[in-house]
Amino acid sequence: MSAYPNTAATDVVTASADPACAEPLPVLGRDVTVPLVTGGEVTYAALDYAASAPALQRVWDDVAAYAPYYGSVHRGAGYLSQLSTDLFEQSRATVAGFLDCRPSDQVVFTRSTTDSLNLLAAVLPADCQVFVFETEHHASLLPWGNAQVTYLNAPRTPAQAVETLERALAAREPYGSALVCVTGASNVTGELWPVKELAAAAHAHGARIVLDAAQLAPHHPVSVQELDVDWVAFSGHKLYAPFGSGVLAGRADWLQRAEPYLAGGGASRKVARRADGGVDVEWHTTAARHEAGSPNVIGVYSIASACKALTEAGFEGLVARERHLIAKVREGLAQVPAVRILSLFGDDSPSRSAGGTPTRVGVISFVVDGWNSSHFAAALSAEYGIGVRDGLFCAHPLVRTLLGSEPQAQGECGAPEAAPGERSLNAIRVSFGAGT
Ligand code: PLP
Repeated sequence: MSAYPNTAATDVVTASADPACAEPLPVLGRDVTVPLVTGGEVTYAALDYAASAPALQRVWDDVAAYAPYYGSVHRGAGYLSQLSTDLFEQSRATVAGFLDCRPSDQVVFTRSTTDSLNLLAAVLPADCQVFVFETEHHASLLPWGNAQVTYLNAPRTPAQAVETLERALAAREPYGSALVCVTGASNVTGELWPVKELAAAAHAHGARIVLDAAQLAPHHPVSVQELDVDWVAFSGHKLYAPFGSGVLAGRADWLQRAEPYLAGGGASRKVARRADGGVDVEWHTTAARHEAGSPNVIGVYSIASACKALTEAGFEGLVARERHLIAKVREGLAQVPAVRILSLFGDDSPSRSAGGTPTRVGVISFVVDGWNSSHFAAALSAEYGIGVRDGLFCAHPLVRTLLGSEPQAQGECGAPEAAPGERSLNAIRVSFGAGT
């Protein structure tokens, strides 16, 4: 670490003087101090938003204000149960508004993006073909085991992504039904994907599309109608809410034709014994069909609170601020010759992040020649109090493509240090957002 004493992220991530930039939103843990191995302590720099963003203070306050009043949802006659049920359903409406859903769409509350995409996988029509880029996060790549899946090769430009998808869809026609799953913003490179164009291509070929917005929604407005996607999935803990809740929002038909994702109380409208000794069940045809069991009312309420906070703060200023920070971090990293920033679409110019149409969100992965990424990340924490992530980021095929190497199993830290000039075997990721 001492080889690059002037390049700590804390030096380059500073508040913006640009009046177009929003102020950072107050988040929990902003003033936490951590000990350094070199002695003393510093204020912790949380730069791992892509894994889990710190919760907004506003969300925490909203939850604390509501907590004394909470009761069971959809299940109690008492005042507090009614209040909780109202807040739960209002939260659904808030999320639908945040995502600019169509009036006929349904918002299903889940545990996370992973859960949401597994739910969608569980309700696919029997003959469904699935198309997914190999570059996806494992949550988007892996849930489709029951369908016939076409894995698409990594594109090297956004236009190539659209061409690749179009070719693959055309080659597979005719199909009964088809689903494309695509990320809005990469959790490895931060690069934005051409979602609207991919949705148009999918629809032109009679396929549907689900947007993995886990990394997009915390940084950009997501409009289901404007992007014309069929479903959107995201996680509360990346959207500045606490852990434990997620969303799948979109078209009702596949959701309502399928058996419930979870069977049990809350999903069933009527249950009766049959004369032959069996049980007949009539399932709900609302989002409740897939929400059996007592719901995570605090988690759902926090997601809605985060949606409101972001909407009120205004994405325009937040995007401007983030763009400024992206440019500063990239400029800082560019001063270190041994650093290589990972990019799939090959746009390495910091200036494009600084103005014009955004091409990326605040997620930047890099390797440092001569350094094992795990050791580098550990040193950032121990010597500077900077929390980043190292590894393969649950996107092994993508990181393999970017590093040009066989990745190690995620979490394995005993990788030998790369000799100067050698390729690293995993990467370091710095990520930030509305609270930075
Ligand atoms: N999709 C993307 C692009 C992600 O970055 C992540 C998490 O890092 C996920 C999906 C999965 O999110 P969760 O772990 O909240 O289910």
